[in-house]
Amino acid sequence: MSLRTDIENTLNKAEKLNGVLTSFLSIEREHALARADELDENGIETNLKGVAIAIKDNICTKGLQTTCGSKILHNYKAQYNATAIDRLNAAGAVVVGKTNMDEFAMGSSNETSAFGPVKNPWDTSRVPGGSSGGSAVAVASGVVRVALGSETGGSVRQPASLCGITGLKPTYGRISRYGLVAFASSLDAIGIFGQTAKDAAGVLGVIAGRDERDATSADVPVPDYLSGIDNDIRGKRIGVPRSLFGEGLDNEIRDSVERSIENFQSLGAEIVDVELPHAKYGIAVYYIIATAEASSNLARYDGVRYGFRAEGANALRDMYMKTREQGFGEEVKRRIMLGTYVLSSGYYDAYYSKAQKVRALVKQDYEKAFTKCDAIITPTSPSVAFKLGEKSSDPLAMYLNDVYTVSANLAGVPGISVPCGLSAEEMPIGLQLIGNFWSEDTLLNLASRYETEFPLNARPKVFAE
Ligand code: GLN
Repeated sequence: MSLRTDIENTLNKAEKLNGVLTSFLSIEREHALARADELDENGIETNLKGVAIAIKDNICTKGLQTTCGSKILHNYKAQYNATAIDRLNAAGAVVVGKTNMDEFAMGSSNETSAFGPVKNPWDTSRVPGGSSGGSAVAVASGVVRVALGSETGGSVRQPASLCGITGLKPTYGRISRYGLVAFASSLDAIGIFGQTAKDAAGVLGVIAGRDERDATSADVPVPDYLSGIDNDIRGKRIGVPRSLFGEGLDNEIRDSVERSIENFQSLGAEIVDVELPHAKYGIAVYYIIATAEASSNLARYDGVRYGFRAEGANALRDMYMKTREQGFGEEVKRRIMLGTYVLSSGYYDAYYSKAQKVRALVKQDYEKAFTKCDAIITPTSPSVAFKLGEKSSDPLAMYLNDVYTVSANLAGVPGISVPCGLSAEEMPIGLQLIGNFWSEDTLLNLASRYETEFPLNARPKVFAE
């Protein structure tokens, strides 16, 4: 079969399901078919040749829209490719569409998108998680095997968990951020969704590695993530931070993750106790640092250089104000105000500078824990996917979705979410493994072995055949 036919099938599936799920903001038929023809003709075999991939709409893809789920960029087309996209193209992958997301990646449910929410394919009255909900659903609904998302505090792992798929956030600096629209630069990372850990491993191997265009990308060798992925995990030490299994965690999720700890043990892993005493400050620290950086990063959307410009302004300052007032949604404005506040001269020491100190302690906790274990296990999210609208009027309840994920971004270490069970209402539950710096190979190995030995054996109600 030609790649063209293959990609045409994928595009048809995407179009058919998008009416129900809204996981794509754009399905790029023309672009994808032209790429497929090109690949059909050149005959060169590459790692990801003909693999269809969906891309979160905050990753620049030349000539295609990059809206960040915001009205302020609704008409913006990227002028250049993100490094990850260049590398995917060189490996033969085919971008089939740009996916829906919380506005500027701020949210945990996809409900802050200016273009409407994404629906969870397991139950369309529920959220898919966020902020990379569109990419998660594109994979979970069987349209594509892999998708790129982005993470600042859990935006790949949490939606992966709520949609029953695998989601990897690599070490900070593992994948170039060049062309990833900035939210909070010291936390941001491109992440990968896969139907399996193997799918994610194949993509990571292609896009990881030092990039001259991103000074924070690390010059650390990139292993072949697929070669050891099926290795025996006997003797691997998995750390359990017991104190995080208490308050605020749904019983069903606790039980499911406890069962998966036993499952890991049955595969020969050794279970050890670890402590992450500062993890409880994660949410507070994250919402100071992330909002501070966002308030600065988002200053560039002023109606002059990018996208939307409000009409009817009578002077420059008035134009800035009208553009930002009309172009940004409520959650983005809330974050810009919070961030501006914590950076203001009177409060800087009390909030921002204090948060940076606690961030260092969060990182030290991990460094200490990884002297005793190879990976740490926790739930990915404290609850299964909730109903659309259930938490959207309560920002604090929404922020608590990230309690298990934010600390990995604060510390810069990698994490992966792996499906580990279904709730009584048949919604997926995810376990999270957090690893030491640059240990994505260990995480993928543990995840893949788990998925092979303890598969979910269930599919969402909405699934592309
Ligand atoms: N849900 C978190 C937030 O709203 C994390 C978002 C992300 O990782 N991009 O900030």
